[in-house]
Parts: sequence; C-alpha cells; structure tokens
Amino acid sequence: MPVKILIVGGGYAGFYTARGLEKMLKPSEVSITVVDPNPYMTYLPFLPEVAAGSIEPRHAIVPLRRHLKATEVIGGKVTKVDHEKKTAVITPESGEAWTEDYDVIVMTAGSVSRTFPIPGVAENAVGMKAIEEAQYVRDRLIANFARAAALPTDSEEREALLTVTVVGGGFAGIETFAELRSLATSLIEYYPQITMEDIHFHLVEAMGRIMPEVSLETSKWVLRDLDRRDAKVHLDTQLKSAVDKVVELSTGEKFASDLIIWTAGVMANPMVRSTDFPVDERGRLTALATLQIADGDTVVPDAWTAGDVSAVPDISKTPGPGGFCVPNAQHAVRQGKLMAKNIVAVLRGDKPREYNHSNMGAVAGLGLGTGVFQSGKFVLKGWTAWMAHRVYHGLAIPMWERKWRVFGGWWNNQFLGRDIAHVERAIEPRAFFEEFASRPKPKTEEAPAEEKAAVTEADDAADASDEKTDGKTSKGKKPKTEKKVSEAK
Ligand SMILES: Cc1cc2nc3c(=O)[nH]c(=O)nc-3n(C[C@H](O)[C@H](O)[C@H](O)COP(=O)(O)OP(=O)(O)OC[C@H]3O[C@@H](n4cnc5c(N)ncnc54)[C@H](O)[C@@H]3O)c2cc1C
Repeated sequence: MPVKILIVGGGYAGFYTARGLEKMLKPSEVSITVVDPNPYMTYLPFLPEVAAGSIEPRHAIVPLRRHLKATEVIGGKVTKVDHEKKTAVITPESGEAWTEDYDVIVMTAGSVSRTFPIPGVAENAVGMKAIEEAQYVRDRLIANFARAAALPTDSEEREALLTVTVVGGGFAGIETFAELRSLATSLIEYYPQITMEDIHFHLVEAMGRIMPEVSLETSKWVLRDLDRRDAKVHLDTQLKSAVDKVVELSTGEKFASDLIIWTAGVMANPMVRSTDFPVDERGRLTALATLQIADGDTVVPDAWTAGDVSAVPDISKTPGPGGFCVPNAQHAVRQGKLMAKNIVAVLRGDKPREYNHSNMGAVAGLGLGTGVFQSGKFVLKGWTAWMAHRVYHGLAIPMWERKWRVFGGWWNNQFLGRDIAHVERAIEPRAFFEEFASRPKPKTEEAPAEEKAAVTEADDAADASDEKTDGKTSKGKKPKTEKKVSEAK
C-alpha cells in the first residue's frame, strides 16, 4: 500500500513539499494529498505590485492542479486533526465535512493577519494577505479617483476617497504604501480635476522605526524617500479607531480615509489549536530543526511542519528573534524543499537533516523605479535595488509558466504603461444582471388590499407600455414596478 501523505495548506511550504515528494517518490510508493481552501499557491511578495496594478492578479498565483500533477488537490479547510488516530476533518466550501485518514501529516497552514480589538478595524479595514485583497485595493483606489473627480473640490467625501491609510511599517506595509503611492502618481495624469495636493497617504507605525529587516540607516533612507513623495509616516503612533472610516491616531490626529489597509503583523494560523499537536505561547507548532513536530525534544512521529505556522529553531549563524526562523518566504521555500527530502529519508529508514539557512538579506520594491536591498552591510538603493527586486522575485515565483507571465506583464507595461483598468464591480458581479432581470409577478393575494391595488396599477401600466413597445420590456418601466413590489412586501 502506498504511504498516504496529507499536506495541510498548499502555500509556499506545502507547495514545495508536494513538488519534492512528487519528484522523489513513485505513485506506487506514495499518495500525496494537498488540502487548501484555495486552488492555488499565492506568491505573497507580489501582492503590493498587484495592488499597484503592476502585476495581473492571476499571474501572482500558481494553480495547484496544473503544477502538482501527481498530487490530489482537495478544495477545503482542515478543521481538526486527531494525530492519535491519524485522522483529519476536511470541511469543503460546500457540502458536508468528512474525516480523512493518513499515514504522515505535513502542517503548512501558514499565518493570518494579526489584529487588535480596535474599534472599526474589523468592519472597515482590509488586509494584504490574499490575492483577492490586493485586487480589491487596486480596484478601489482606481475607482475612488473616478468618484472623487466628479465631486466638488471642497467635498469631505472627495478628501476621504483620496486618502489611503496603511497600518504597519514592516516590509509588507511599506511596500504596499509605496507601491500605492506610485499608482496614485500614475493615475493623476488621467484626472485633470485631481492634483497631487489632493491625495493623502498615511502610514501608521507603533514603533520608532520602519522595516526592522534592514539597518536603521537604510530604514531612514526609505523614510526620506517617502517624505520626498509626500507620503506621511507616523512613527511611535497607534491607530485608536477606524469607526465609519474615520482614522483616529494616538497623537490626536483624525482624518477620514476610504482605504484602510492593515499590515501590522501576522500570527500562526489558529487552526493549529484544533489539533492535538504541541503549540508554543505564540500559537506556533513546536518543531525540531529537522522540521519534525516535537514536544520539547520528543519527536511526534509522522508529523512535520514548516513555514509561518511553525516555530522552527534557527541554527544559522544569524538566528532570528528568540532563536527561531522568522516567518518569511526565504525560509518557507527552503524548509518545504528540505521537508520533502526528510520525509523520504525517514520513510527509507535514514536520518533527517537539520534546516540551516543564513538570511540572504531583504529586497523591497517601493514603487516604479525605486527600491531598497540590504544583505549584511551591502546596501542598494533606488533604481538598482528596484531592478534587483524585480529580477529576484520574477525568478523566484515557482514554475516557468508563471515567471513568463510576470516578466511578460512587466515588459508590456514598460511600453504600454501601467494598466489602469479596474473591475471593481467584480465583487458584486450579479448586480449587472439583477438590475434588469425579469422577476415573477408578485403573489398579490399576500399583499394588503390597497398595496395590491398599487401593484396591479403598476403592472397594468407596465403591460400597456409593453404593448406599445411591441412586447419589448422598456428599461424605464421595470424599476417602477419593482419599487411598488418592494413597497408591497
Ligand atoms: C504582502 C506580503 C509580502 C511579503 N513579502 C515577502 C518578501 O518579500 N520576502 C519574503 O521572504 N517573505 C515575504 N512575505 C512573507 C511570506 O510570503 C510568507 O512568510 C510565506 O508565504 C509563508 O509560507 P507558508 O507556506 O508558511 O504560508 P502560506 O504561503 O501563507 O500558505 C499557507 C496556505 O495554507 C492554506 N490554509 C490556511 N488555512 C488552512 C486550513 N485550515 N486547511 C488547509 N489549508 C489552509 C492557505 O490557503 C495557504 O494557501 C510577504 C508576505 C506578505 C503578506
């Protein structure tokens, strides 16, 4: 019987584990299953550029079924794991949950946005952890320009529409902030009614600095670069409230902002609490450097973990905070690849290897033509760093088919300019259809007497008009009838 390996989460770590296993084991030896609510792996470092309209959303994701040919992909969430019994409950988007058994489990469910109970945040902010969020932000900002252009210059609504707030000054926050600012600059040329002075960008960071991944000096250069572009960074400042999209800061400053983007940190996916695996105080699965889940030094047999959901000891010369690997793609990719090798090693009775990777540095895009790169004391700023960012990430997205699409998009933009088309209403696609869709006539006997009369009158009027237009329903009559019907309900 082939060994049944269940991979929980097909993101960075899960995707590379599945690919590694596919390459090393024959279908007669192993059956690999990936469970993920999304049918794709998301290349998260591209989200800021997706939000800025520099990369097509679909190009920044890697379809699992296309690229994991020997793996069964199940669309759903793993909602419970009983490792004692080696069973996992899978809850699909539609239909009943079921229990799946396995021989070996790989826990790679990643992380989720970490928020605090700040009034208005849950209702009004959006994260930057999913491709859908990045696309929404892109469409919303572009659509807001069109809305604002039609409003008087002294309108409060106009000011809110042209105000963007990003909470969190880590890499993801700064990249998102700078990329959106760059998009806004490009949009200006299409809206003569809007000037740069009308646009307001605020980044809120609780600490006294941004981007802890680079040196203080480099982070100050980024601050100066943002300041030059009139993008305001509020250091040592906390978001106090975002009720009704009115941002209130701990400094007392208050302004309305239509787009509030939350990037203030991540935490291990809380789904691990529905398992019987050991978890540390920060909610991460505890593991050895071999990527085996472990309770202290005791290995939990046939259970592996990697990426943001795990606390993997960092045994490199430059360990992360607390001696653990930081949650980033550099680690998740390499851990995924090693984990596949280690699983095969253990299945064949060999010893697993320890994960040991020294940080290669950090590279960030800060909008078209500018970026920052730091590795040790070596720093690049501006255009060269931006090129390094594009080359590195363009080549790092898995699969040549995806790299081709990303580089192709950038190449096209080079000559055709940034694509400012948006499909904001894709989030409510049925609205177009519903607006003119015919509905069955109301059951008039259910309505009170005088409302019944109103409905009948309206129907008669509509019918008469239909006759005049040779049976074609005129657009003008439909809403009138609808209004009466809804009043009658
Ligand atoms: C905007 C942004 C920019 C970034 N930029 C960089 C960068 O430049 N460099 C860098 O090194 N890192 C970067 N990172 C961090 C990096 O992307 C993550 O560290 C990395 O994705 C972690 O990989 P993972 O496999 O642990 O999790 P993920 O890649 O997040 O994958 C987790 C998967 O698990 C799935 N899942 C969730 N819950 C369940 C469940 N219950 N059952 C089954 N599946 C589930 C999810 O759908 C997802 O597909 C960035 C992150 C963000 C958000």
